[in-house]
Amino acid sequence: MTRKFDHFAFLSRSREDPDVFPLKVRRSEFREIYKPYSQEEAADQAERCLDCGNPYCEWKCPVHNYIPNWLKLAGEGRILEAAELCHETNSLPEVCGRICPQDRLCEQACTLETGFGAVTIGAIERYIVDEAFKQGWRPDLSHVRTRPWSVGIVGAGPAGLACADVLTRNGVSVTVYDRYPEIGGLLSFGIPDFKLELSVMRRRREVLEGAGVHFRLNCEIGTDIQAHELEHMHDALFFGIGTYQPVEASLPGMEKGGIVPALEFLIGQTNHMYQLDIPGFPHINLAGEHVMVLGGGDTAMDCVRTAIRQKAASVQCVYRRNRENMPGSPREVSHAMKEGVKFEFNAQPLSLIHQNRKLTGLEIAKTRLVASNTGRARPELIEGSEQVLPATALIFAFGYRPSPPSWLETIGIATDESGLVRMDDHLPGQTSNPAIFAAGDMVRGSDLVVTAIADAREAAQSIIQYLEVKEPQLRRA
Ligand SMILES: Cc1cc2nc3c(=O)[nH]c(=O)nc-3n(C[C@H](O)[C@H](O)[C@H](O)COP(=O)(O)OP(=O)(O)OC[C@H]3O[C@@H](n4cnc5c(N)ncnc54)[C@H](O)[C@@H]3O)c2cc1C
Ligand code: SF4
Repeated sequence: MTRKFDHFAFLSRSREDPDVFPLKVRRSEFREIYKPYSQEEAADQAERCLDCGNPYCEWKCPVHNYIPNWLKLAGEGRILEAAELCHETNSLPEVCGRICPQDRLCEQACTLETGFGAVTIGAIERYIVDEAFKQGWRPDLSHVRTRPWSVGIVGAGPAGLACADVLTRNGVSVTVYDRYPEIGGLLSFGIPDFKLELSVMRRRREVLEGAGVHFRLNCEIGTDIQAHELEHMHDALFFGIGTYQPVEASLPGMEKGGIVPALEFLIGQTNHMYQLDIPGFPHINLAGEHVMVLGGGDTAMDCVRTAIRQKAASVQCVYRRNRENMPGSPREVSHAMKEGVKFEFNAQPLSLIHQNRKLTGLEIAKTRLVASNTGRARPELIEGSEQVLPATALIFAFGYRPSPPSWLETIGIATDESGLVRMDDHLPGQTSNPAIFAAGDMVRGSDLVVTAIADAREAAQSIIQYLEVKEPQLRRA
């Protein structure tokens, strides 16, 4: 039922995030911590939007969602129209609503952020799409004109899925290849279920397959199919294969053991929970251990919160700058703190301490922040502040570097000195091989889901432009 939008609701109603499950439940369960909004709650919060003439939130959102427009529709209870509008700019709005760092993006830019509390944009985006799916919404492709082209997409992460979505909506036939048994990339194998449940990606797979996307899973390019073979199977290719090389640390004592690799730990947990049988990712159970995680980004927060749920004896996060300088979302840090993670800020790891080859502690020194010419404060060691923190399992979560497979070169995709795929100057997303496009972490370096989606959607438009020009030649071949 349509309700009338109250334009002055921001004066009478404060920001209310969706309820979270009680701490006791959250600390033990691998399921999303936020309960869904009711229809009434979502409409009440959506009505707080001021509908600014020049909305900063839209500008700060990397996919430039039509935020005030779909908030208004949600406020009026017109959920199917709101979902349709969400999908005009975003291929995975239910995912972004859950895991975008809104406090650094759209909500940070909301006019109400200062003094009133930003509109809960992410939670409403999630509500709109979840509710629309419940009501049976599916993309309407009845008007789409079929094109005679076939595109191969390597990687079913957010970049690959966004490219597949845009191409399918433009009538292009798409096959997505991924080495894993589920779609989602890091959304399924990396980001834990307490932020994003696997069922969300399984539902999206159904929607994409319903729209005509063909998935070939458990299929590794370079092993099961060679890249040059793939070139002959399609009119154009898109790559979104991410970055998977961990940034390595070098500390005295590392060779004696006690180190748990971050992504293996997270993937092993998903593999175990869903019995997926992905080789090379055993379940690493840290129950009863004194877990220490080094780093301050999303991966570090996911590791500490996973260790809490596995019932570690203690969980501590060591970060060399202060809380304000942490690279991840402040919201995730605050969840970790509430769930029982201790933080040692301004602390630089020095060496690992072992007794009889068993890790027992980490030696650290305290730091102070000093100005640097990079614009970001630099940590400087404070002499005489050394101390040992107890630790029996140590996780390094310093981020990921590009990991381009060697066969990229053989199909003419050039990378720069750091290993990132180099973009050709011609069309957005076009690599040095004009028939091959790329986006996501393998082009930008480790970044965000929403930026991978934004770049891949643009690359998909470039593929269409490329094929339109190329079509007469394709017909002759
Ligand atoms: C632990 C962790 C937590 C994160 N949390 C957040 C968060 O809360 N919010 C946020 O916005 N971002 C987060 N990120 C970052 C985000 O997940 C990435 O930026 C995003 O997933 C990049 O998308 P992508 O499609 O480029 O790559 P990926 O998601 O890495 O997908 C790449 C896909 O390619 C497949 N692939 C690779 N090689 C091959 C091959 N040879 N053949 C076939 N398939 C192949 C992989 O199996 C994978 O499915 C997090 C990252 C990590 C590691
Ligand atoms: S996609 Fe992300 S940044 Fe954009 S409106 Fe949604 S939550 Fe905000």
